[in-house]
Amino acid sequence: MTRIPPGGAIGIFGGGQLGRMTALAAARLGYRCHVFCPEAESPAVEVSAAATIADYADLSALDAFSGSIDVATFEFENVPHEAVARVAARVPVRPGWEALRTSQDRAVEKRFLNAVGLETAPWTEIRSADDLRQAPCPGILKTARLGYDGKGQMRLAEGFDAEAVWKAFGAERGVAEALVDFSAEISAIAARGEDGSVAVFDVARNDHRDGILRQTTVPARIPDPVAVEAQAMAARAAEALDLVGLLAVEFFVTGDGRLLANEIAPRPHNSGHWTQDACGTDQFEQFVRAVAGLPLGDPARHSDAEMVNLLGGEVRSWPDLLAEPGACLHLYGKREVRPGRKMGHVTRLSPKTR
Ligand code: AMP
Repeated sequence: MTRIPPGGAIGIFGGGQLGRMTALAAARLGYRCHVFCPEAESPAVEVSAAATIADYADLSALDAFSGSIDVATFEFENVPHEAVARVAARVPVRPGWEALRTSQDRAVEKRFLNAVGLETAPWTEIRSADDLRQAPCPGILKTARLGYDGKGQMRLAEGFDAEAVWKAFGAERGVAEALVDFSAEISAIAARGEDGSVAVFDVARNDHRDGILRQTTVPARIPDPVAVEAQAMAARAAEALDLVGLLAVEFFVTGDGRLLANEIAPRPHNSGHWTQDACGTDQFEQFVRAVAGLPLGDPARHSDAEMVNLLGGEVRSWPDLLAEPGACLHLYGKREVRPGRKMGHVTRLSPKTR
Protein backbone atom coordinates (compact mmCIF):
# COMPACT_ATOMS: atom_id res chain seq x y z
CA MET A 1 0.00 0.00 0.00
CA THR A 2 1.32 3.45 -0.91
CA ARG A 3 -0.06 6.15 1.33
CA ILE A 4 0.87 9.72 0.42
CA PRO A 5 0.61 11.69 3.67
CA PRO A 6 -0.63 15.31 3.67
CA GLY A 7 2.18 17.57 2.51
CA GLY A 8 2.75 15.37 -0.53
CA ALA A 9 2.24 16.37 -4.15
CA ILE A 10 -0.61 15.13 -6.34
CA GLY A 11 -0.27 15.41 -10.10
CA ILE A 12 -3.48 16.02 -12.06
CA PHE A 13 -3.78 15.49 -15.81
CA GLY A 14 -6.24 18.05 -17.18
CA GLY A 15 -6.92 21.65 -16.27
CA GLY A 16 -10.72 21.99 -16.21
CA GLN A 17 -13.17 22.69 -13.42
CA LEU A 18 -13.05 19.10 -12.15
CA GLY A 19 -9.30 19.50 -11.64
CA ARG A 20 -9.87 22.87 -10.01
CA MET A 21 -12.31 21.48 -7.45
CA THR A 22 -10.05 18.46 -6.87
CA ALA A 23 -7.08 20.77 -6.23
CA LEU A 24 -9.13 22.86 -3.79
CA ALA A 25 -10.18 19.72 -1.88
CA ALA A 26 -6.58 18.48 -1.89
CA ALA A 27 -5.32 21.81 -0.55
CA ARG A 28 -7.80 21.58 2.31
CA LEU A 29 -6.18 18.27 3.29
CA GLY A 30 -2.69 19.77 3.10
CA TYR A 31 -1.64 18.49 -0.34
CA ARG A 32 -0.03 20.46 -3.14
CA CYS A 33 -1.32 19.85 -6.65
CA HIS A 34 0.65 20.01 -9.89
CA VAL A 35 -1.56 20.30 -12.97
CA PHE A 36 -0.42 19.03 -16.38
CA CYS A 37 -2.47 20.38 -19.30
CA PRO A 38 -1.96 21.95 -22.72
CA GLU A 39 -3.91 25.19 -22.10
CA ALA A 40 -2.33 28.02 -20.08
CA GLU A 41 -5.62 29.60 -19.06
CA SER A 42 -7.15 26.72 -17.16
CA PRO A 43 -9.47 26.69 -14.16
CA ALA A 44 -7.30 24.14 -12.30
CA VAL A 45 -4.01 25.92 -12.95
CA GLU A 46 -5.20 29.04 -11.13
CA VAL A 47 -5.69 27.23 -7.83
CA SER A 48 -2.77 24.79 -7.91
CA ALA A 49 0.71 25.00 -6.41
CA ALA A 50 2.39 24.15 -9.73
CA ALA A 51 1.52 23.72 -13.38
CA THR A 52 3.12 22.29 -16.49
CA ILE A 53 1.63 23.69 -19.67
CA ALA A 54 2.64 21.19 -22.32
CA ASP A 55 1.33 18.73 -24.85
CA TYR A 56 0.49 15.22 -23.56
CA ALA A 57 3.11 13.92 -26.02
CA ASP A 58 5.93 16.03 -24.57
CA LEU A 59 8.12 13.34 -22.97
CA SER A 60 10.57 15.64 -21.22
CA ALA A 61 7.70 17.63 -19.70
CA LEU A 62 6.10 14.35 -18.57
CA ASP A 63 9.38 13.26 -16.97
CA ALA A 64 9.81 16.54 -15.10
CA PHE A 65 6.16 16.32 -14.00
CA SER A 66 6.51 12.79 -12.64
CA GLY A 67 9.75 13.79 -10.88
CA SER A 68 7.87 16.48 -8.92
CA ILE A 69 4.86 14.47 -7.68
CA ASP A 70 4.12 11.50 -5.41
CA VAL A 71 1.04 10.21 -7.23
CA ALA A 72 -0.83 11.10 -10.43
CA THR A 73 -4.49 11.18 -11.38
CA PHE A 74 -6.85 12.58 -14.05
CA GLU A 75 -9.69 15.00 -14.24
CA PHE A 76 -10.65 13.75 -17.69
CA GLU A 77 -10.31 10.33 -19.26
CA ASN A 78 -8.95 11.03 -22.71
CA VAL A 79 -5.28 11.20 -21.76
CA PRO A 80 -3.18 9.23 -24.30
CA HIS A 81 -1.79 5.88 -23.19
CA GLU A 82 1.82 6.88 -23.84
CA ALA A 83 1.58 9.78 -21.37
CA VAL A 84 0.02 7.59 -18.69
CA ALA A 85 2.59 4.83 -19.18
CA ARG A 86 5.47 7.32 -19.03
CA VAL A 87 4.33 8.72 -15.69
CA ALA A 88 3.28 5.31 -14.29
CA ALA A 89 6.87 4.11 -14.69
CA ARG A 90 7.90 6.54 -11.93
CA VAL A 91 4.92 7.17 -9.62
CA PRO A 92 1.63 5.42 -8.87
CA VAL A 93 -1.16 6.46 -11.25
CA ARG A 94 -4.65 6.17 -9.78
CA PRO A 95 -6.94 5.08 -11.26
CA GLY A 96 -4.83 2.87 -13.49
CA TRP A 97 -4.84 2.47 -17.26
CA GLU A 98 -7.54 -0.22 -17.31
CA ALA A 99 -10.20 2.21 -16.05
CA LEU A 100 -9.12 4.92 -18.49
CA ARG A 101 -8.87 2.58 -21.45
CA THR A 102 -12.36 1.26 -20.79
CA SER A 103 -13.94 4.70 -20.57
CA GLN A 104 -12.10 6.13 -23.59
CA ASP A 105 -14.02 4.02 -26.09
CA ARG A 106 -17.78 3.50 -26.07
CA ALA A 107 -17.55 0.03 -27.61
CA VAL A 108 -14.98 -1.16 -25.04
CA GLU A 109 -17.07 0.46 -22.32
CA LYS A 110 -20.31 -1.25 -23.33
CA ARG A 111 -18.58 -4.60 -23.72
CA PHE A 112 -17.18 -4.18 -20.21
CA LEU A 113 -20.55 -3.20 -18.73
CA ASN A 114 -22.28 -6.18 -20.33
CA ALA A 115 -19.48 -8.54 -19.20
CA VAL A 116 -19.92 -7.52 -15.55
CA GLY A 117 -23.69 -7.94 -15.75
CA LEU A 118 -24.82 -4.36 -16.29
CA GLU A 119 -27.51 -4.18 -18.94
CA THR A 120 -27.22 -1.47 -21.61
CA ALA A 121 -29.54 -0.38 -24.41
CA PRO A 122 -29.16 -2.85 -27.31
CA TRP A 123 -26.10 -1.67 -29.27
CA THR A 124 -23.76 -2.61 -32.11
CA GLU A 125 -20.33 -1.41 -33.12
CA ILE A 126 -20.35 0.50 -36.42
CA ARG A 127 -17.45 0.70 -38.86
CA SER A 128 -19.25 1.24 -42.15
CA ALA A 129 -22.51 2.21 -43.81
CA ASP A 130 -23.17 -1.54 -44.15
CA ASP A 131 -22.93 -2.00 -40.36
CA LEU A 132 -25.29 0.92 -39.95
CA ARG A 133 -28.00 -0.97 -41.84
CA GLN A 134 -28.11 -3.43 -38.90
CA ALA A 135 -28.34 -0.62 -36.30
CA PRO A 136 -31.21 -0.52 -33.80
CA CYS A 137 -33.84 1.93 -34.99
CA PRO A 138 -34.97 4.38 -33.75
CA GLY A 139 -31.51 4.83 -32.35
CA ILE A 140 -28.52 7.05 -31.76
CA LEU A 141 -25.16 6.82 -33.50
CA LYS A 142 -22.31 7.97 -31.26
CA THR A 143 -18.59 8.33 -31.96
CA ALA A 144 -16.66 5.55 -30.24
CA ARG A 145 -14.01 7.97 -29.03
CA LEU A 146 -13.76 11.57 -27.84
CA GLY A 147 -17.47 12.31 -27.56
CA TYR A 148 -18.82 14.18 -24.57
CA ASP A 149 -21.87 16.22 -23.54
CA GLY A 150 -23.85 14.78 -26.42
CA LYS A 151 -21.25 15.85 -29.03
CA GLY A 152 -20.60 13.53 -31.97
CA GLN A 153 -24.09 12.02 -31.93
CA MET A 154 -26.72 11.52 -34.66
CA ARG A 155 -30.29 10.29 -34.36
CA LEU A 156 -31.31 7.31 -36.51
CA ALA A 157 -34.94 7.72 -37.48
CA GLU A 158 -37.21 5.19 -39.22
CA GLY A 159 -36.11 4.74 -42.86
CA PHE A 160 -32.81 6.59 -42.44
CA ASP A 161 -30.34 6.58 -45.32
CA ALA A 162 -27.33 4.59 -44.03
CA GLU A 163 -24.93 5.91 -46.69
CA ALA A 164 -25.84 9.55 -46.07
CA VAL A 165 -25.73 9.24 -42.27
CA TRP A 166 -22.36 7.47 -42.34
CA LYS A 167 -20.92 10.13 -44.62
CA ALA A 168 -22.22 12.98 -42.47
CA PHE A 169 -21.04 11.22 -39.30
CA GLY A 170 -17.42 11.42 -40.42
CA ALA A 171 -15.87 9.33 -37.64
CA GLU A 172 -14.00 6.10 -38.31
CA ARG A 173 -15.91 4.06 -35.78
CA GLY A 174 -19.01 4.42 -33.67
CA VAL A 175 -21.62 2.60 -31.67
CA ALA A 176 -25.31 2.63 -32.54
CA GLU A 177 -27.71 2.07 -29.71
CA ALA A 178 -31.46 1.87 -29.42
CA LEU A 179 -33.24 5.02 -28.35
CA VAL A 180 -34.40 4.43 -24.78
CA ASP A 181 -37.80 5.64 -23.67
CA PHE A 182 -36.61 6.36 -20.14
CA SER A 183 -38.57 7.64 -17.15
CA ALA A 184 -35.45 9.11 -15.55
CA GLU A 185 -31.71 9.49 -15.97
CA ILE A 186 -29.72 8.85 -12.79
CA SER A 187 -26.12 8.45 -11.75
CA ALA A 188 -24.32 6.66 -8.95
CA ILE A 189 -20.80 7.63 -7.91
CA ALA A 190 -18.68 5.03 -6.15
CA ALA A 191 -15.37 5.73 -4.44
CA ARG A 192 -12.92 2.87 -4.02
CA GLY A 193 -9.88 3.07 -1.80
CA GLU A 194 -6.52 1.43 -2.23
CA ASP A 195 -7.50 -1.09 0.45
CA GLY A 196 -10.54 -2.14 -1.63
CA SER A 197 -13.10 -0.35 0.56
CA VAL A 198 -16.03 1.13 -1.34
CA ALA A 199 -18.30 4.08 -0.47
CA VAL A 200 -21.14 5.10 -2.75
CA PHE A 201 -22.91 8.46 -2.71
CA ASP A 202 -26.70 8.67 -2.83
CA VAL A 203 -28.12 8.27 -6.31
CA ALA A 204 -28.86 11.51 -8.17
CA ARG A 205 -31.45 12.29 -10.84
CA ASN A 206 -30.12 14.15 -13.86
CA ASP A 207 -31.92 16.36 -16.36
CA HIS A 208 -30.15 17.09 -19.62
CA ARG A 209 -30.83 19.69 -22.25
CA ASP A 210 -29.20 19.43 -25.69
CA GLY A 211 -27.05 16.60 -24.33
CA ILE A 212 -25.61 18.77 -21.52
CA LEU A 213 -26.38 18.23 -17.84
CA ARG A 214 -28.75 20.93 -16.72
CA GLN A 215 -29.83 19.94 -13.24
CA THR A 216 -29.16 17.24 -10.65
CA THR A 217 -31.65 16.44 -7.89
CA VAL A 218 -31.16 14.34 -4.76
CA PRO A 219 -33.02 12.30 -3.64
CA ALA A 220 -33.65 11.03 -7.13
CA ARG A 221 -37.40 10.31 -6.72
CA ILE A 222 -37.08 6.71 -7.87
CA PRO A 223 -38.08 3.58 -5.91
CA ASP A 224 -35.56 2.73 -3.17
CA PRO A 225 -34.75 -0.77 -4.53
CA VAL A 226 -33.82 0.77 -7.90
CA ALA A 227 -31.51 3.28 -6.21
CA VAL A 228 -29.88 0.56 -4.11
CA GLU A 229 -29.37 -1.57 -7.21
CA ALA A 230 -27.73 1.35 -9.05
CA GLN A 231 -25.33 1.86 -6.14
CA ALA A 232 -24.47 -1.85 -6.10
CA MET A 233 -23.84 -1.80 -9.86
CA ALA A 234 -21.49 1.19 -9.58
CA ALA A 235 -19.57 -0.59 -6.80
CA ARG A 236 -19.40 -3.78 -8.86
CA ALA A 237 -18.05 -1.93 -11.91
CA ALA A 238 -15.41 -0.15 -9.78
CA GLU A 239 -14.31 -3.47 -8.31
CA ALA A 240 -14.19 -5.17 -11.72
CA LEU A 241 -11.88 -2.39 -12.97
CA ASP A 242 -9.79 -2.69 -9.79
CA LEU A 243 -10.23 1.06 -9.72
CA VAL A 244 -8.71 3.32 -7.06
CA GLY A 245 -10.50 6.66 -7.18
CA LEU A 246 -14.05 7.49 -8.27
CA LEU A 247 -16.33 5.82 -10.76
CA ALA A 248 -19.48 7.61 -11.93
CA VAL A 249 -22.03 5.40 -13.70
CA GLU A 250 -24.91 6.98 -15.60
CA PHE A 251 -28.10 4.97 -16.07
CA PHE A 252 -31.43 5.24 -17.81
CA VAL A 253 -34.36 4.07 -15.67
CA THR A 254 -37.04 2.52 -17.88
CA GLY A 255 -40.77 2.78 -17.22
CA ASP A 256 -40.78 -0.74 -15.72
CA GLY A 257 -37.90 0.08 -13.33
CA ARG A 258 -35.00 -1.53 -15.23
CA LEU A 259 -31.58 0.08 -15.13
CA LEU A 260 -29.68 0.47 -18.40
CA ALA A 261 -26.11 1.69 -17.97
CA ASN A 262 -25.18 4.43 -20.43
CA GLU A 263 -21.69 5.67 -19.56
CA ILE A 264 -18.95 5.44 -16.99
CA ALA A 265 -16.39 8.06 -15.97
CA PRO A 266 -13.42 7.20 -13.73
CA ARG A 267 -13.20 10.65 -12.13
CA PRO A 268 -15.30 13.27 -10.32
CA HIS A 269 -18.52 13.87 -12.23
CA ASN A 270 -20.73 16.89 -12.85
CA SER A 271 -23.67 14.96 -11.38
CA GLY A 272 -21.76 14.71 -8.09
CA HIS A 273 -21.26 18.43 -7.50
CA TRP A 274 -24.19 18.49 -5.05
CA THR A 275 -22.04 16.46 -2.62
CA GLN A 276 -19.88 19.58 -1.98
CA ASP A 277 -22.68 21.19 -0.02
CA ALA A 278 -24.87 18.25 1.04
CA CYS A 279 -22.38 15.68 2.36
CA GLY A 280 -19.73 15.61 5.08
CA THR A 281 -17.22 14.19 2.60
CA ASP A 282 -17.78 15.37 -0.96
CA GLN A 283 -16.78 13.64 -4.21
CA PHE A 284 -13.61 15.72 -4.58
CA GLU A 285 -12.32 14.99 -1.09
CA GLN A 286 -13.25 11.34 -1.54
CA PHE A 287 -11.30 11.30 -4.81
CA VAL A 288 -8.24 12.86 -3.13
CA ARG A 289 -8.47 10.40 -0.24
CA ALA A 290 -8.58 7.43 -2.61
CA VAL A 291 -5.76 8.72 -4.82
CA ALA A 292 -3.55 9.49 -1.80
CA GLY A 293 -4.21 6.05 -0.27
CA LEU A 294 -6.09 7.48 2.73
CA PRO A 295 -9.18 5.88 4.27
CA LEU A 296 -12.40 6.94 2.52
CA GLY A 297 -14.74 9.39 4.27
CA ASP A 298 -18.41 9.00 5.13
CA PRO A 299 -20.49 9.74 2.00
CA ALA A 300 -23.71 10.25 4.01
CA ARG A 301 -25.96 13.10 2.89
CA HIS A 302 -27.31 15.57 5.43
CA SER A 303 -29.67 17.56 3.15
CA ASP A 304 -31.71 17.29 0.00
CA ALA A 305 -30.01 19.10 -2.85
CA GLU A 306 -30.64 20.57 -6.26
CA MET A 307 -27.62 21.48 -8.40
CA VAL A 308 -28.03 23.66 -11.50
CA ASN A 309 -25.21 24.23 -13.99
CA LEU A 310 -24.56 27.81 -15.01
CA LEU A 311 -24.08 27.57 -18.77
CA GLY A 312 -22.69 30.40 -20.90
CA GLY A 313 -24.24 33.79 -20.08
CA GLU A 314 -26.24 32.36 -17.16
CA VAL A 315 -23.15 32.98 -15.07
CA ARG A 316 -24.04 36.68 -15.17
CA SER A 317 -26.77 35.95 -12.62
CA TRP A 318 -24.07 35.66 -9.93
CA PRO A 319 -25.15 38.80 -8.05
CA ASP A 320 -28.69 37.40 -7.63
CA LEU A 321 -27.37 33.99 -6.62
CA LEU A 322 -25.04 35.55 -4.04
CA ALA A 323 -28.02 37.39 -2.60
CA GLU A 324 -30.22 34.29 -2.47
CA PRO A 325 -30.32 32.78 1.03
CA GLY A 326 -29.17 29.16 1.03
CA ALA A 327 -27.80 29.17 -2.54
CA CYS A 328 -24.22 27.79 -2.63
CA LEU A 329 -22.42 29.35 -5.59
CA HIS A 330 -19.37 27.77 -7.26
CA LEU A 331 -17.65 29.64 -10.10
CA TYR A 332 -14.83 28.23 -12.23
CA GLY A 333 -13.00 31.48 -13.02
CA LYS A 334 -13.34 31.05 -16.81
CA ARG A 335 -12.79 34.38 -18.50
CA GLU A 336 -14.44 33.67 -21.82
CA VAL A 337 -18.20 33.14 -21.82
CA ARG A 338 -19.29 30.85 -24.67
CA PRO A 339 -22.80 29.46 -25.32
CA GLY A 340 -23.25 26.17 -23.44
CA ARG A 341 -19.88 26.44 -21.67
CA LYS A 342 -19.91 25.27 -18.06
CA MET A 343 -19.05 28.44 -16.12
CA GLY A 344 -20.12 27.42 -12.63
CA HIS A 345 -22.95 25.82 -10.69
CA VAL A 346 -25.30 26.62 -7.87
CA THR A 347 -26.53 24.13 -5.28
CA ARG A 348 -29.65 24.74 -3.22
CA LEU A 349 -30.13 22.71 -0.06
CA SER A 350 -33.31 21.85 1.78
CA PRO A 351 -34.00 19.70 4.86
CA LYS A 352 -33.49 16.00 4.23
CA THR A 353 -36.77 14.25 3.40
CA ARG A 354 -35.52 10.65 3.02
P1 AMP B 1 -24.16 10.57 -23.72
O1 AMP B 1 -23.14 11.41 -24.41
O2 AMP B 1 -24.14 9.13 -24.10
O3 AMP B 1 -24.13 10.75 -22.21
O4 AMP B 1 -25.58 11.15 -24.15
C1 AMP B 1 -25.99 12.47 -23.79
C2 AMP B 1 -27.50 12.47 -23.51
O5 AMP B 1 -28.23 12.08 -24.68
C3 AMP B 1 -27.93 11.48 -22.44
O6 AMP B 1 -27.76 11.99 -21.15
C4 AMP B 1 -29.40 11.29 -22.81
O7 AMP B 1 -30.20 12.37 -22.37
C5 AMP B 1 -29.36 11.29 -24.32
N1 AMP B 1 -29.18 9.90 -24.80
C6 AMP B 1 -28.00 9.28 -25.01
N2 AMP B 1 -28.17 8.00 -25.42
C7 AMP B 1 -29.51 7.78 -25.42
C8 AMP B 1 -30.33 6.65 -25.74
N3 AMP B 1 -29.81 5.48 -26.14
N4 AMP B 1 -31.67 6.80 -25.62
C9 AMP B 1 -32.22 7.98 -25.24
N5 AMP B 1 -31.49 9.09 -24.94
C10 AMP B 1 -30.16 9.00 -25.03
